[in-house]
Amino acid sequence: MKEIEVTCKLGKELSADEIQTAAVKALGVSPKMKQQLKYRIVRRSIDARNDILYRYRIEVAKPDEVLQEYTLEEYQNVASAEPVIIIGAGPAGMFAGLRLLMRGFKPVILERGKDVHARKFDMAKLSTEGVVNPDSNYCFGEGGAGTFSDGKLYTRSSKRGDIREVLHQLVRFGADPSILIDAHPHIGSDKLPIVVENIRKCIIEHGGEYHFDSRVTDIERRPDGAYNVEVDAISSAAEKTVYTARKVILATGHSARDIYEMFDRKGWELQAKGFALGVRVEHPQSLINKIQYHGKYQPYMPTAEYSFVTQVLDRGVFSFCMCPGGILVPAATAEGELVLNGMSNSQRNSKWANSGVVVQIEPEDFPEYAQYGPLALLRFQQDIEKKMFEYTGSLKAPAQRMMDFCRRIPSANLPKSSYHPGVENAPLHELLPEHVSLRLKYAFPEIGNKKMHGYYTNDALLLGVESRTSSPVRIPRDPETLEHPQLPGLYPCGEGAGYAGGIVSSALDGINCAAKI
Ligand SMILES: Cc1cc2nc3c(=O)[nH]c(=O)nc-3n(C[C@H](O)[C@H](O)[C@H](O)COP(=O)(O)OP(=O)(O)OC[C@H]3O[C@@H](n4cnc5c(N)ncnc54)[C@H](O)[C@@H]3O)c2cc1C
Repeated sequence: MKEIEVTCKLGKELSADEIQTAAVKALGVSPKMKQQLKYRIVRRSIDARNDILYRYRIEVAKPDEVLQEYTLEEYQNVASAEPVIIIGAGPAGMFAGLRLLMRGFKPVILERGKDVHARKFDMAKLSTEGVVNPDSNYCFGEGGAGTFSDGKLYTRSSKRGDIREVLHQLVRFGADPSILIDAHPHIGSDKLPIVVENIRKCIIEHGGEYHFDSRVTDIERRPDGAYNVEVDAISSAAEKTVYTARKVILATGHSARDIYEMFDRKGWELQAKGFALGVRVEHPQSLINKIQYHGKYQPYMPTAEYSFVTQVLDRGVFSFCMCPGGILVPAATAEGELVLNGMSNSQRNSKWANSGVVVQIEPEDFPEYAQYGPLALLRFQQDIEKKMFEYTGSLKAPAQRMMDFCRRIPSANLPKSSYHPGVENAPLHELLPEHVSLRLKYAFPEIGNKKMHGYYTNDALLLGVESRTSSPVRIPRDPETLEHPQLPGLYPCGEGAGYAGGIVSSALDGINCAAKI
């Protein structure tokens, strides 16, 4: 068996004949054997350095050799098995649930939001009427924060576990098989709801439970070591419900501020944690295509993406969650707050490219918030989101052209934006904390000069604010058992606990917590 590299022009399919011809040479076998040679495509990436090519990595083997295929474990029927409560139906919660099914435990999933279809109506209301439902929005509801997103699956690192389990399950539940080989796979917000719904159907068919409209308001450890999990039924007048289990996976995401507050109230250990803060940047997608494909973009080519990391005044400044051919969306989870994020459909065919461009911040940058202890940066995050909202008095986003922001002058006017609630001309350079604003001011021209010629332009619009890059609080856990140090049997999990960022790493963390159980 050998791994070979084969290139192919974009817009052209790589044929079996081409692969087997390359395999003959690599394996040193007779051309007569060509059609019997086995192959498996491992990876496909775009190389736009000179000619614009797909670069394939392919495993090839002689007829008597075995090419290992990845196989998923089967799910068991768990209707009468021991229950494990999972709080939160985001990637961490859903993939924890699937792993529990594989190992014979019954997932009981409690989710404050609605099922993925009902959730769409609340998001439409959010964009068109500016009404934020605190339990059903871009962050809360079935599928979690990643459902109405770009669905980029960017973790390729094997540090957290075997990502094949995540990718193969996504394909099993409806994602395009190309995600198994693409270097930058993405699913798209038109396809993700189907995948999320299919995961739910599978869990229920195998005896697990899903409870929507079920906001967890309290967790209590009983004398026998099991947990009572108290739930407020949101859309009915029903009394509180209490679920009991020996094991609880807490996968509530980075926007569940009430969960951090509950921990703080109960004196359960939390730790303050840094996160990254900045703006959403929107360029015309045609410009990003031109830059990234060096002027050779053709409509059959994948919509161009970008990412960068730089250091300004000893701090990391980086692009975050770039959405090619995407739109900007209001990602607030409470009235009176304003925060933006991006999403795109599988075709990535809007006129805009957006990305967060953010600066790493640490609790010590904000001594005035030290009084809030582990919740210091959570309070700061809330305040900056309120400040943005108060500037416009609505979900309209304060916005400024990129060069004007860097020159620290008001914009005479603003270009069109994909952001549906609208934009309002604003001095973003003043609204952001000075040390964030200053680093962005230096970063944008540097990116334009050194990395992406044309990126630094007044045709680009900056919108405030991007503040939900990761959790501002960590819920500690034992590195071996993954349980909270004061709460045996309770597993802080996923992005909200501070152990993951993004769909794939959160899903892997869910799998890891379930595996410990
Ligand atoms: C608009 C948008 C676009 C994004 N795009 C991408 C992308 O393209 N690629 C990528 O990798 N990542 C993306 N992300 C980030 C990604 O979605 C998160 O990293 C990931 O969803 C975190 O998974 P999680 O399961 O840990 O938490 P979450 O997905 O946040 O899920 C937590 C769940 O817990 C529920 N919950 C919270 N509190 C309670 C409670 N008290 N009781 C019951 N349930 C509760 C919430 O309703 C939610 O469903 C995006 C995020 C947003 C908002």
